[in-house]
Amino acid sequence: MEYILQIMLGTFMQKPPGTEKVLRTLEQTYDRIGPQDIIVGWTTENESYKQLLDFVHSNGKKVWLWLPVFSELPGDLSPDPTYNYLGNLQKGLEVLPNEDFRFVCPSSLHNQMLSLRLFDRHFSSLSLDGVFLDKIRHASFAGGLEHAFGCFCPNCQKRYAEVGVNMGQIRHLLEEHPEAFFPSALDGLRYRFDHPEVDRFYRAKADIITDAAGKIAAGFRDRGLMVAFDVFAPVVAYFMGQDIEKLSKEASFMKPMMYRITHAPAGLPFELEHLDQAFASSGYKAASLLQRIWDKESMCSADAADEQIARMQGSCAASVYPGYEINGIPGICDNTPDYAAECAKRYSKLGVKKSVLSWNLLADTDRNISGLKRTGQYNA
Ligand SMILES: [Zn+2]
Repeated sequence: MEYILQIMLGTFMQKPPGTEKVLRTLEQTYDRIGPQDIIVGWTTENESYKQLLDFVHSNGKKVWLWLPVFSELPGDLSPDPTYNYLGNLQKGLEVLPNEDFRFVCPSSLHNQMLSLRLFDRHFSSLSLDGVFLDKIRHASFAGGLEHAFGCFCPNCQKRYAEVGVNMGQIRHLLEEHPEAFFPSALDGLRYRFDHPEVDRFYRAKADIITDAAGKIAAGFRDRGLMVAFDVFAPVVAYFMGQDIEKLSKEASFMKPMMYRITHAPAGLPFELEHLDQAFASSGYKAASLLQRIWDKESMCSADAADEQIARMQGSCAASVYPGYEINGIPGICDNTPDYAAECAKRYSKLGVKKSVLSWNLLADTDRNISGLKRTGQYNA
């Protein structure tokens, strides 16, 4: 199995670490496990990129630019905000410093064009191979139940009405019977909901994301770039409007975030705990109900991850490259060399061609990379 190395240089406004440090880490990693493709982003202080690109390309590997789509956008672009079903603006969420998990409205054409505008403004002179699009979704349950059902701005409400969703009934159900928004069954990678109006609502919510992703991907393809998507693990993806099967038609590869040990957004323990909390008031044990739907003892287990990847391989039009943690962040992601090695071994057994060492090669990863080398699951 080959790897893709994910490198976080900083968010748009952040100053990146020195180019020397980044190059040294990358060289050291290549020494351990051989040259690999990289995903790198998304600071606009772009003097680091050129040397990185030269280094990776001289080793015959590809560079994907990491860009967020519907969150973490610079305020000076005036993105159209998201309104929750109560008519309030969505609140932000900061777990790690400098994070901003405020989501913008995905059906706004202005917002859909922002990642392309940012690319044209800051990155178009670089000889990139592709873009890796992150945050192509609605907000998750981490921001509370009231923010987890997508956008209810007039534009989005119109989209729902067009496909026959009765928004009055949806609002009534959200206020009186939030448990109706919990699935009863799994259908491929999508959830099904007993209440037909809720089922239609979730489908429309996902279609808003799929349509937007299609337009954005086409814009990048017009610029001569390949497109890949960062998506949630299937157990939670559909809640946030990610219809993985449909999205895969627009991508070269899909990277599900199989973060089984991360207690921060996109980490499975974190997202499942917030899902539990969000539904707690309606007496629902959300995480245990999901376990029943998937027939697993824990949705953070290696076994549950295997099942999700196997389902993706069976239904995606694009390559499936699972992402798992390679970095260690005390208290947030207490990683061990054995964890990464186990993930690599299991995914390799499933026939995975590449896996993504996430989400930041620059954050204490050397011991864990060495763990991969011990398993022999590398391509040096
Ligand atoms: Zn909206």
